[in-house]
Amino acid sequence: MQIIIHFLPDSRKSRNFTSMKLLTILLALLPVLNGPGARLQVSFDDAGGALRYAVSYDGRTLVEPSRLGLQTNDADYSLLEVVSSETQEVRDNYVLDRIKASRIDHPAVRAVLHCKTPQGRLLDIEWHLTANDAAFRYCIPRDTETGSIRVLQEQSAFRFPEGTTGFLTPQSDAMIGWKRSKPSYEEFYKLDVPITERSQYGHGFTFPCLFRVGGEGWVLLSETGVDSRYCASRLSDYDTAEGYRIAFPMPEENNGNGTVEPAFALPGATPWRTITVGSDLAPIVETTIPFDVVEPRFETSRGYRYGKSSWSWIVWQDASMNRDDQIAYIDLAAEMGWPYILIDAGWDKEFGHEGMEELVRYARSVGVDVFLWFSSSGWWNDITQSPVDIMCDPIARKAEMRWMEGIGVKGIKVDFFGGDKQETMRLYEHILSDADDHGLMCIFHGATLPRGWERMYPNFVGSEAVLASENLVFGQVHCDLESQNAALHPFLRNTVASMEFGGVFLNRRLDRRNGAPGRGGRISGTIRRTTDAAELAISVLYQNPIQNFAITPNNLTDAPAAAIDFLREVPTTWDETRLVEGYPGRHIVLARRHGRTWYVAAINAEETPLKVDVRALESRFGGTALVYSTGKDGLQTGPAAKKALSLPKDDGALIVIR
Ligand code: CA
Repeated sequence: MQIIIHFLPDSRKSRNFTSMKLLTILLALLPVLNGPGARLQVSFDDAGGALRYAVSYDGRTLVEPSRLGLQTNDADYSLLEVVSSETQEVRDNYVLDRIKASRIDHPAVRAVLHCKTPQGRLLDIEWHLTANDAAFRYCIPRDTETGSIRVLQEQSAFRFPEGTTGFLTPQSDAMIGWKRSKPSYEEFYKLDVPITERSQYGHGFTFPCLFRVGGEGWVLLSETGVDSRYCASRLSDYDTAEGYRIAFPMPEENNGNGTVEPAFALPGATPWRTITVGSDLAPIVETTIPFDVVEPRFETSRGYRYGKSSWSWIVWQDASMNRDDQIAYIDLAAEMGWPYILIDAGWDKEFGHEGMEELVRYARSVGVDVFLWFSSSGWWNDITQSPVDIMCDPIARKAEMRWMEGIGVKGIKVDFFGGDKQETMRLYEHILSDADDHGLMCIFHGATLPRGWERMYPNFVGSEAVLASENLVFGQVHCDLESQNAALHPFLRNTVASMEFGGVFLNRRLDRRNGAPGRGGRISGTIRRTTDAAELAISVLYQNPIQNFAITPNNLTDAPAAAIDFLREVPTTWDETRLVEGYPGRHIVLARRHGRTWYVAAINAEETPLKVDVRALESRFGGTALVYSTGKDGLQTGPAAKKALSLPKDDGALIVIR
């Protein structure tokens, strides 16, 4: 028996949901939830007392029946009966100036499953469905004297049909790597591997994770809404009976300090687990679910300005922490018309506070504002790059931020965090909150994946959480994989969050001499494999509102003038993002719109040439193309040719359509 009650629209409005067309209450029946358009469906069963959900798209099962539930120190919610449920049509309608799109406005369905344990304890499971996303979280009421809980484990699982393959990056051991600073989401990806394959370290995989369900469709798993009230989670290794499980941080993280069990006050909720599905990859690349379901943690009175930045450390490295080199990079930013310079590790020892005041004064006199680097540590690694012991200490942190605001510094880059425990999530939030008091934007490196932070924190402007540009300088293998990663991250790491990669190189050799012989005639530096056109494509493929580009002062004279001019012009914020075509790690053609101009970026990582039909792009995006591609003398620019571009491996193209 199903009783459906329809309510008329009411006048309540929240920031998230501007319309409330229909409220349906279903009683005494397991519900079936349909996303807007009804291609996405979430169904439930409770055989044996365990509640399971499954996700299908166009009638094809993409996530097989998988467990829901969790256990806390106060109550066991691993067996659940659905008592009643409600669904409600809403709209995700908001403006956000720092992600892949600026105005989000699409229909959604919100549902609540009111559940009860065999002991009579209550728990709600909230669902949020868009046309291609299903997100859920657990909400625990204060139904007894208990006012706070620790979550011991989640049953939440993700089971896939046989033959499913994954695009995955492992969670590392804790307290390994550079100065014992891992895990830091800086591991290699494995592409299209069987999901039953064990992870490299045996600790499962970090979010996001992408899956190809045979020829049936695609699934992207991630989480969002993680703040000081929970830990960051990951996927366990795959269990053929249960699937992937939500796993909590490892006890060794943060040098063993802080609990692995998240705790929160009641009533309270877990973060959202997000499932994005599609028959093709466009919904994966275009999803905004990480931002749809979260709310700002605080409002700001500051007007933050995004844009491009120079930084000496990426190619000229530690030796560039001196006055002449920093002036050279400030002048580079000024010459490029870029608003920022990032002054990286070691500035405190080289300049001190007084010297830095003078340097910031010089930068501002030529129209360039400053980001300053800090280590987060602390008592959780052995980092010696300085300054240290400031960002982890609220007293020192606030004093330093007052000083920065006083001399006109506009942002900070904080590096080398201690992992995924709730203790570390609190530190991120405290830094963001204090920094906003002083008008400082925050970039995080050596860091976890940001989970909805672009909408939650108004001064958050990007995290690393990837094997980023420094690795291209450190090791040839990363240069050899550069086009593969550029064809991968827009589907995966960068689709759920801003990615502060710090790339776009125009040096052929990635060191200060750029191929000029050094002592004894030796030529040094890793060798860039990509064309200049491919690097211009990367400036658009990788999304982050602050772009620290890796060009060097010599590129003003030794790189093609058209490339330099393009990097003066290319935006760092986007109104719309569309996947034209691609396959993760093989090739991609991606279009991003800024104002009325479309920037279409293509890159090929395969031996088979990639065909790009510029005429077809002109008609799809409505305008005339200016094409940056590779000719026989290097980078060339011009109008669309009659024939399609044919891009060999490691080549790319950038097509501006206006
Ligand atoms: Ca790093």
